[in-house]
Amino acid sequence: MTECPHPGDDGVLETPAPALTIKQAERVALDMFDIRAQARLLDSERDQNFRLSTSGGNEFVLKIANPAEDAAVIDMQAQALAWIATVDPQLPIPRLHPTREGMGAGSVSVDDRDCIVRVVTYLQGLPLDDATPTRPLRRALGASLAHLDLALQGFFHRAAGHELLWDLKYAGRLRKYLDTISDTSKRSLAGDVLDCFSTSIEPAFATLRAQIIHNDFHPGNVLVEPDCHDRVAGIIDFGDIVHAPLVNDVAVAAAYQTLSQNDPIASASELIAGYHAINPLLERELDMLPLLVMTRLVMSVVIASWRAQQHPENIEYITGDQHSSWVALEQLAAIDPKAMSRAFSEACGLPGGGEQRSPHARSPESDEALSDRRQHLLGESLQLSYQQPLHIVKGDGVWLFDSDGKRFLDAYNNVAHVGHCHPDVVSAIHRQARLLNTNTRYLHADIVDLAAKIADTMPGDLSVCTFVCTGSEANDLAWQIARSVTGGSGAIVTDNAYHGNTNAVIELSPEELGRAPEPWVATVPAPNTYDGPCRDDDRALVESSAPRIGQAVEELRGRGHRLAAFMFDTIFASDGIRIPPEGYLQAVFDKVHEAGGVCIADEVQAGFGRTGEFMWGFQSQGVVPDIVTLGKPMGNGHPIAAVVTTPDIAASFARKQYYFNTFGGNPVSAAAGLAVLRIMTQERLQENAVAVGSYLRSQIRNLSSNHAIIGDIRGAGLFTGVELVADRHSRQAATDQARTVTNEMRRHGVLIGLTGENDNVLKIRPPMVFNRSNADLLCATLDGILADL
Ligand code: PMP
Repeated sequence: MTECPHPGDDGVLETPAPALTIKQAERVALDMFDIRAQARLLDSERDQNFRLSTSGGNEFVLKIANPAEDAAVIDMQAQALAWIATVDPQLPIPRLHPTREGMGAGSVSVDDRDCIVRVVTYLQGLPLDDATPTRPLRRALGASLAHLDLALQGFFHRAAGHELLWDLKYAGRLRKYLDTISDTSKRSLAGDVLDCFSTSIEPAFATLRAQIIHNDFHPGNVLVEPDCHDRVAGIIDFGDIVHAPLVNDVAVAAAYQTLSQNDPIASASELIAGYHAINPLLERELDMLPLLVMTRLVMSVVIASWRAQQHPENIEYITGDQHSSWVALEQLAAIDPKAMSRAFSEACGLPGGGEQRSPHARSPESDEALSDRRQHLLGESLQLSYQQPLHIVKGDGVWLFDSDGKRFLDAYNNVAHVGHCHPDVVSAIHRQARLLNTNTRYLHADIVDLAAKIADTMPGDLSVCTFVCTGSEANDLAWQIARSVTGGSGAIVTDNAYHGNTNAVIELSPEELGRAPEPWVATVPAPNTYDGPCRDDDRALVESSAPRIGQAVEELRGRGHRLAAFMFDTIFASDGIRIPPEGYLQAVFDKVHEAGGVCIADEVQAGFGRTGEFMWGFQSQGVVPDIVTLGKPMGNGHPIAAVVTTPDIAASFARKQYYFNTFGGNPVSAAAGLAVLRIMTQERLQENAVAVGSYLRSQIRNLSSNHAIIGDIRGAGLFTGVELVADRHSRQAATDQARTVTNEMRRHGVLIGLTGENDNVLKIRPPMVFNRSNADLLCATLDGILADL
């Protein structure tokens, strides 16, 4: 193991390193760690390290710590290694080898001083010092450091706050050693950097996000694959880990990339970009990086000249790469720090530093050009939302941001159930994607845990889950199951239903079909008490529901099809968002069962607590479907969906048919699904849906006294429909105005949709983190737009 010249804490530096003989080291390895090996001395300034090679070809490093080293700090380093190995087993770090007694470390007495002894695995690889840095390697370095920091994120140790000379936090203290620099112009350059550091960085340190960091990503501490220099094969030397601002870790690593470079900014930028891609840096961290990088270079030259003065006999070793540090420092000092920060930001794909930054780089092509290209390449059947299309580049909670940095309140996208880019979902996906992604034909606990958690939320016997990727696939499978277990071939859906896009379920989706469905499909009206034959008459609706199903069953029979299933969206979203009166579904279910069919509740829209009081939309009616399908919000944007049914139905289906879905329920999807459920509980999102949903409807109701166009306000939880009508007596659809309202809302920064057979129902279905002030903003915007109509 190589160690860089390392002036650490004064005590450790001034206490001579332990000096075991090779024979003694081999004895310690055998007696204490049960390793029979040949030892070879490795370079080290403050400790003593031996490389151990066993006859079986295993290699280790025996580390004898400096006797002045704090035992708690050594323990922290050992605990950190163990932590990282558990959290991110991919990271190539040394593993601790226990003592014979199973302890992490032992102790030996060297010249009457007690020294802590550890053994770690020896990592094979070429020290970065000996490799030629390429662009991909610099990116890989940044990425590895980012993964290391992510792994260390949750780690803490009581010794983490120990004071270390090599801690950027304390760079200001180095001022006292400035006079050891004899060259006056160099001394004044170092002084200037430290002054800038003290005025513009030091005061902000306490407000930066901080954690335990590696703090010494020096080329001597990184190994690359001997055959492929672009890959990081090892990260060693955890001797400087400390609790500090996260950005310091990046600054240390980037500082070393500026050495011996014609274009130090470009090479540092590559490492920073590699880091940012994995563990995004904040704008203010990027702004601080130029000065932090320079400060780190100053630390290294100041500490070296101080040490050289104290140990003239060792001057060559101590001042090893000082020349290149001075050169880099002088190169950087000639560049405007703002330009540096701009270069770093741009390398990360962020807008170049400036006073006003949009959350994402402005697209290099105009929206019109992009739209043209899109139409040619994606075809015309895929339409864009809104008259003036949106070019969204970033999401955060209930907010979306377009390529100009304009913010939109998202009151439409239910897929981002727990909020756009919820960090816990993002990191669950990220963590699992780094570890494994296979399919449901291997054992994996997460997928089973997810199934168990979903089953726990379901009433009755609904307990067997099949995972798929989309709502369409879920309904397609539900339909296959229904046909298989009933032997029937006919389906009933509502007049303007939408259940998906596969060959089978598009027939069950009159909303999108644009023609009469196949003869095996019959439709029934959605439970509408706002207009039509059951206007304002719940009882008439409930009483007519079973006969209406009976009629559909007969229609199907007349066309040669026995009923297999009634499929319905539990909030009848595409039918205009309908909350049926009590008893409606029970009457329908009874009739369907009587005709030999099964009831399939499509929860793709209403599920996962959206309707507030209940996890699933059908529960408000007290019925238990035979099959339930889930989708959209399930992975917060990650494609995961499911079919849930009873053990009897599942077994009957399995006797006749196998079902396998390559991507459905893979470990990454399962991680996303589990994260969504966890967040829903942690953030009490169902309760939020109840409270904010009813608040929103009451506020819209207040608006309706000023706006006669509002005919009806209905919904449950955070699913609201506002029906716009020509007048409240005729209740005729105000379709054109509804379209204008949605487009105007978009223009004023609030996203809603349209639904219903006549496209006159405003569809308000925001992420579940929507709060009262979001509701107020929506209502104020709507109020203004309705007034201007
Ligand atoms: N069912 C319902 C009720 C839906 O709203 C949708 C999608 N709008 C689907 C099924 C199909 O889901 P997906 O688009 O994920 O295939």
